[in-house]
Amino acid sequence: MPESDSIVIVGGGHAGAQLCGALAAAGHAARVHLVCEEPELPYHRPPLSKSFLKNAGESPLWHRAESWFADAGISLHRADPAVAIDRAKRTLRLRSGAVLAYGTLVLATGARARRLPHLPPSLCNVATVRTAADASRLRDLLGSHRALTVVGGGFIGLEIAEAARALGLTVQLLESAPRLLMRAVSSEVADHVLATHRGNGIDIRLGVAVGSFELAGDRLEALAVDGIAQAVELMVQGIGAVPEHELASAAGLHCENGIVVDEHLRTSDPSILAIGDCSSFPDGTTGRRLRLESVQNANDQARTALATITGTPQPYRAVPWFWSDQGALRLQMAGLVPPDGERHRRDGATPGNFSILHYVGDRLACVESVNAPMDHMAARKLLESGRTVSPALACDPAVPLRQRLVA
Ligand code: FAD
Repeated sequence: MPESDSIVIVGGGHAGAQLCGALAAAGHAARVHLVCEEPELPYHRPPLSKSFLKNAGESPLWHRAESWFADAGISLHRADPAVAIDRAKRTLRLRSGAVLAYGTLVLATGARARRLPHLPPSLCNVATVRTAADASRLRDLLGSHRALTVVGGGFIGLEIAEAARALGLTVQLLESAPRLLMRAVSSEVADHVLATHRGNGIDIRLGVAVGSFELAGDRLEALAVDGIAQAVELMVQGIGAVPEHELASAAGLHCENGIVVDEHLRTSDPSILAIGDCSSFPDGTTGRRLRLESVQNANDQARTALATITGTPQPYRAVPWFWSDQGALRLQMAGLVPPDGERHRRDGATPGNFSILHYVGDRLACVESVNAPMDHMAARKLLESGRTVSPALACDPAVPLRQRLVA
C-alpha cells in the first residue's frame, strides 16, 4: 500500500473507534492506523460517571475487541500519543519516536476535564472524571470516604453526585450559576432535576462562589464557599471540559474553541479532518459555530468523515441528541434548546414524566424529555423529517407523540 493512501486517526475514543468501524465496513481497514494516548482499547465513556462508579466489578465497555482490530488489519498504537504533525511532509510523529506517513489525517483528540484555577493538579482527595483511569480512582476514593463535595452542576457533576449518594455518602454540590445545567436545559427541566436530587438528600447550593483552598501536603483540607472556609473530605471537579487541540494548534491549524472545520469536517488543511468533541463545526441551520460533546456527535461525524475520505462528501447536518442518567432520572434532549424559543409542556402519565417542546416561530426546534423515552424517540424522528406539528397537537397527552409522525 503506498504511504500516501494511509488514513491515520489520532485519538482512540468514541469518534476514532466509530471511524475505524465505518472504514472497515467500507473496505478500507488495511489503510488505517489508530493512535491512542491511553493504554486501553477504545471504550465507552458514558458509564464512567454512572453505573461504573456504583459497581465495583464493572469494567470499561470496549467498542471492539482487540481481535477485531487485528482481524480487520487496523494498526493500533496504544499508550503512544501523537506529539507533532509535519504538514509539509504529511507525517505524524508519536512519543515513541515512530513516524507515520498519512494521505489523510483525522484528529479525534476529544476534550480534557477542566480544572479549577489555582488548585494543584495531583491532590490525593481531588478527582475529575474523563478517562477509565480517572473513574477507577474515583470509585476507590468513594469506597473509602463518607462525604463528597462536587463542584459543578452540569451533567457529569450531577451523575457523580447521584452515584455517590446512592453509595451512601453525604453529598454536597456547589454550582456558581443561579440554576443547574444552565447551558444545556430549560429552567423547567433544571427545576425538576434540582427538586429530585434535593429530595434524595443531596445538598445542592446554587449561585455560590468557590474561592481559595487550604492544603496540607498533597491533601485538600478546605475550600472557601462564598468566602467561608468549609472542610473537604473528598472533592470532584465537574466543571466541564476543554477541547484538546494542542497538536492541531502547534501544526498551525485554525483553532477557536476546538479545531475549526468546514461542513465536510475538513480543517484549514484539507488533508486533515477533525471529528468529535474536539471539532468546531458550522451549524447547518443557523450557520453559527458549534462544538458538541456527545456520543451522537462522535458517531455522526465519524460517518460524515468516511464520506469525505472516500470522495463522496456530504455536509454534516445531523440532529443533535443527548442523554443523561441520574439514578431514576433519565433526561433526553433532541435538538438544542434555543435561547428565545416558545415553550410548551407535554405531560406524561405521572408527574415525573414530561417533555418540554421548544418552538422557534412555528418550527419545532428541540424536545427535552424527562423519563419519557418514547417522546424522545418520536421527537428525533420529527426533527430529522423536518416536519412540524403544532404545539396544541404535539402536547395533547391523549395521543402519543409518535402518532404525530403519521398524522
Ligand atoms: P474522546 O472519547 O474523549 O476520545 C479522545 C481520545 O483522544 C482520548 O482517548 C484521548 O486520550 C485521545 N488523545 C488526545 N490527544 C491525543 C494525542 N495527541 N495522541 C493520541 N491520542 C490522543 N455523552 C452522551 O451523549 N451521553 C452521556 O451520558 C455521556 N456521558 C459522559 C460521561 C463522561 C464521564 C464523559 C467523560 C463523557 C460523557 N459523554 C456523554 C460524552 C461522550 O463520551 C463524548 O462526547 C465522546 O466520548 C466524544 O468522543 P471523542 O472521540 O470525540 O473524544
